[in-house]
Amino acid sequence: MEKKLQARFLEITGRVQGVGFRPFVYRLANKFHLCGYVKNDVNGVVVFIEGHAKDIDLFMQEIYLETPPLSEIVNIVMQKKEPLYSKEFKIIHDESAMQLKTAIISPDFAICDDCKKDILKKNHKYSNYFATNCTNCGPRYTIIKTVPYDRENTSMAKFIMCASCQNEYLDPLNRRYHAQPISCHMCGPSLDGTIRDIAQKIKSGAIVAIKGIGGFHIVCDATNDESVQKLREAKNRPSKPFALMCKDIKQIQSFSIVTPEEETLLKSKEAPVVILKKKILLDSIISNDVAPNIERIGCFLPYTPLHCLLFTILTQPIVATSANFAGEPIITTKEELEKKLPFVEAILDFDRDIVNGIDDSVAQIVAKKVQLLRIARGYAPKTIKLPYKLNKKILAVGANQKNSIALAFDDQIIISPYIGDLNSIRTFEFFLKTLQTFKNFYDFEADIILYDKHPQYETTKWVKKQNKESYSVQHHLAHIYAAKAEYGLESDYLGFTFDGTGYGEDGLLWGGEVFVGDKRKYHFKPLKLLGGEKAIKEPRRVALSMLFESYSLDEVLKINLPFSLSEIEVLYQSYQKNLNAPLTTSVGRLFDGVASLSKLCHFQSYEGEAGLLCEMRYNKDSSEFFNYTIVDGEIAIEFDFFDKEIVTKFINTLVEIVVSISKKESLDVILSGGVFQNKTLLELIVERLNKDNIKYYYQQKTSINDGGISLGQISYYLQHCSCKN
Ligand SMILES: [Zn+2]
Ligand SMILES: [Zn+2]
Repeated sequence: MEKKLQARFLEITGRVQGVGFRPFVYRLANKFHLCGYVKNDVNGVVVFIEGHAKDIDLFMQEIYLETPPLSEIVNIVMQKKEPLYSKEFKIIHDESAMQLKTAIISPDFAICDDCKKDILKKNHKYSNYFATNCTNCGPRYTIIKTVPYDRENTSMAKFIMCASCQNEYLDPLNRRYHAQPISCHMCGPSLDGTIRDIAQKIKSGAIVAIKGIGGFHIVCDATNDESVQKLREAKNRPSKPFALMCKDIKQIQSFSIVTPEEETLLKSKEAPVVILKKKILLDSIISNDVAPNIERIGCFLPYTPLHCLLFTILTQPIVATSANFAGEPIITTKEELEKKLPFVEAILDFDRDIVNGIDDSVAQIVAKKVQLLRIARGYAPKTIKLPYKLNKKILAVGANQKNSIALAFDDQIIISPYIGDLNSIRTFEFFLKTLQTFKNFYDFEADIILYDKHPQYETTKWVKKQNKESYSVQHHLAHIYAAKAEYGLESDYLGFTFDGTGYGEDGLLWGGEVFVGDKRKYHFKPLKLLGGEKAIKEPRRVALSMLFESYSLDEVLKINLPFSLSEIEVLYQSYQKNLNAPLTTSVGRLFDGVASLSKLCHFQSYEGEAGLLCEMRYNKDSSEFFNYTIVDGEIAIEFDFFDKEIVTKFINTLVEIVVSISKKESLDVILSGGVFQNKTLLELIVERLNKDNIKYYYQQKTSINDGGISLGQISYYLQHCSCKN
């Protein structure tokens, strides 16, 4: 006798739309002879299956195992149902549900292994085709104009699928089923030059530009000193390291150390630039000018078919740096590139438009775990699910540097990609454009706007003009709450925020604060920033200020710092009379001062340079540290400015301070702020906190630097408001 049929209804949430999830369910159902249907709905995917109990069990086991690479199941709710006795399994295309505009916009992903194989095959439909993609890889966010994510809403709309692509697109068993950007030699985008020619130009030493996923890269031969120097001069970028794109892991290993965790990250579908440690080599193939003076180097692997094809010709690594003009956003069109970067000798362009520009992401491994330093291609837009629903729509406009924006509505927070430093007019325009893009995606109109307390931030000035209900959130509390959002934390924590400079409650520039809950309980001893903003670019000014704290003018004059006599006298006046000498508690600035005192760096040509140089000088065999005092919550380090090991002792002192306060306060710890991008410092702290069994959190998947401020503003507000259902 035939066993009775059983039926189940599944509601699957997570990243399950636009990633090949329905065809995956279709194949699985067929494999186990189940009938029913699968379709998208507002929350994800719903599945109805009917068949024998044993087959349903097998189906349920495999649904977790062989999921499509880009999908992510958050939850499956299963209900028993009466069978409908359907005769087949169907994919239902009912996109009306999608019009609600809550669907997650997927980031862009690196070319998958199957597509890599396709383009390298001989006499294959996709042989050498630079824009090959499938459901498991390729562009998304960068080509979307609006949701739902269908071809007609992307910059692929103008390319009409050929019969062959159409067949693949419509075949649920094909890897390119419903891959919106599907295209081939016959019907898709085409290059305005050849990969061979551009490769020849690179080999001959030229500086070229190549269109990528989110914008153009400026490219040159990384083994050619002359080319790299030429690029540095043209971009007026004396020492900020360039990222390197390499043919494969083996090539990266020839000049840098790659741990297993770093290798996994390099090969991931997000394919970020990974900051690695250089090997100490006498005859490194890489030009010294790629990342001068530091022991780190940022590398990434080819992530588009175009890159992969380029490396079938090139044997050397290439510099691949975002094409932009002095602090402006990444360039996405050939016209702008020709206008703004006239030094580029050749351009390889194609006719699939970049709708939303986006930079490469940057990441590092700290204590064997990923830490994202710049959240862009592959990671953004990023969604954080909330355990409750909101009755208001909230926009957070973030910080002025490394700006990102965040939106909260329904039961989610959506974080934009990295936007940049808003002091440039073009970057501020890019901020406005990104805001508009996200408003369009989600039919979003903010009820409430959140911003930083700094009155001079461009974002603050913008918010004041909006005539909306708005609240400011203190910068460092936002840092702590960003970490709380990432980990879903609610109670009180001991929050260390070591940072550059942010606007404090008392009008001073904070950046070395320790909070218990929302209360600032400790802070570093304020230091005068001689010349205000100027001091941020000139560590020597911080060093001088530190010296003035301890020595007379006559004594300071005997110390060898790169100032003229008259400069020192003027700065001494400014120190004494508090003229253009704002007070700061910033730990980032202390790093600058220490870097200058140890003659590592008197002028900073890029942010974080002093810290990177300090890491290099750190002597891991020494555990010595400076004495410090904590009086009325004020932390003062008793520096010996002439100690040869000042860098090591300073870093060790910071570790001691964090550990001893953590022990005293006996609360779980949060570490946030840009200073915790310092791998040496963070790893030392983590090691000690582990040893002492102190529970700690630091951001890994969201920005620990100012890129996380928008998320933190929302998180702070959500924990203090009554806008939750
Ligand atoms: Zn693919
Ligand atoms: Zn085609």
